[in-house]
Amino acid sequence: MSSEDLSNVRASEAVHARAAAFARELNLPADASRAQLMAALAASRIVAPSLRTALDDTRDLEDVLIALPSGGLKVPPKVGWRATVPQIPSRKPRYHIRVRAVFCADDDGTNGATITKNQVLELLKVVSTLYFHAGLTFALSAAMPLTNTMINQDFTVPTGLDMTVEDPPPMTAAETNVSFDKHNAERTAWARNYPGELVIFFRRGTKLEWNKTASVWEVRAASFAFSGPEHEFVAMGQGSPPEVNLLAHESGHYFHLNHTFNTLVTLTAAESKQYPNWETSAADRAAGLKILRERLAEGIRTYIDDQNHPADQGLEVLNGDGLIDTPPDPAPPIFRYGFANQCDTHSITVDVNLASGPRSYTVVAPHDIIMSYFFRCAGLKRYSESQIDVVRTSLEQATFTGTVKTTGGAVLPILSRHHLIAPKYKMDGGNQVAVPPKFLTRAAQRLRSLIGLGRGR
Ligand SMILES: [Zn+2]
Repeated sequence: MSSEDLSNVRASEAVHARAAAFARELNLPADASRAQLMAALAASRIVAPSLRTALDDTRDLEDVLIALPSGGLKVPPKVGWRATVPQIPSRKPRYHIRVRAVFCADDDGTNGATITKNQVLELLKVVSTLYFHAGLTFALSAAMPLTNTMINQDFTVPTGLDMTVEDPPPMTAAETNVSFDKHNAERTAWARNYPGELVIFFRRGTKLEWNKTASVWEVRAASFAFSGPEHEFVAMGQGSPPEVNLLAHESGHYFHLNHTFNTLVTLTAAESKQYPNWETSAADRAAGLKILRERLAEGIRTYIDDQNHPADQGLEVLNGDGLIDTPPDPAPPIFRYGFANQCDTHSITVDVNLASGPRSYTVVAPHDIIMSYFFRCAGLKRYSESQIDVVRTSLEQATFTGTVKTTGGAVLPILSRHHLIAPKYKMDGGNQVAVPPKFLTRAAQRLRSLIGLGRGR
């Protein structure tokens, strides 16, 4: 017998013993059926406290009785009795999100994605399980190749740049960001040809990287994926097979979710450059960790003493998404520099000198939260209830809700995702027009013919 079977037997013995004690209390026969037990339970709400505490496994008596077979107490405890954990129901109504997977390449067919349709089917299946409680299922509506450099790449590197000088680099961050905006405008325009579908571009992206050996800047594939409430698409990389947790995270951005962390406990670019080797150098780790701990402590102190927040809520200074039920997220750097591993599960405690006296605060990495940067760490993943509210609101509203400013300086509307769940849309002169359900059209036609207006158009 496996250890799991053994623990099942023990659990079923406990259920049986507890139900038997309950039967004795209510003067039921020793072989009472489950129906008899349930009826007696319904008639008497005073039985639960009468149970001996040794039999009280803290679960509701109703739960225990549900675990009994219908034969009741005459069926001996055995494997297979284990009560199934009640499923938390999904939000209703459930929405089916139609996904258009676009395998991108440059105009000339190079730098193409090698991801297969079957990999995408598998990807959507698993992502759907992560979104189960949110009430979303992702289904592939189309998978297609696309040769389009503007969509395959993230920004355009102009010809004629001097690529052999390391510093300054051939393009400034501002220049790449402006070009990034143009590429994304193309992507959004393309995606709008497919109303009612979530477009996922498996694209190469663009990254300029200095090749030390060859002393030259090289254009390489981007190492990140992205989306946002201002984009009509999710941009994934071309890595194969595509990462499930990454799509869960990026599609979260598409459905208006923000990161759970902010930039408080991070190193500046100069500090990162000074102490780059957190994986290999104990000296770099010590120096970086000292800065990060100070930054955390000072952030908490400012939040409480200068901004008049309660000391009990000091860790709220780490709240990156403004939601009440996502845990304080200190972001990966303090764990990288603290433990040489950003997925380390130990906590980090800092002492803060508050005006009211010293107090310690402890942070842990929220590995379970998809919208943190710990989504690649091991363990179960989830969206919080408030995050699910945000996702569903983004789907259920039919109007814009505001604007965002991109790093390239463009101000863009926060887009509604309503078109993904609306019955049906068609394009009319560049606008999405709702197509009413068929029965409504027929009723309208009947009405028109009745009042003598003919069939209409
Ligand atoms: Zn993100």
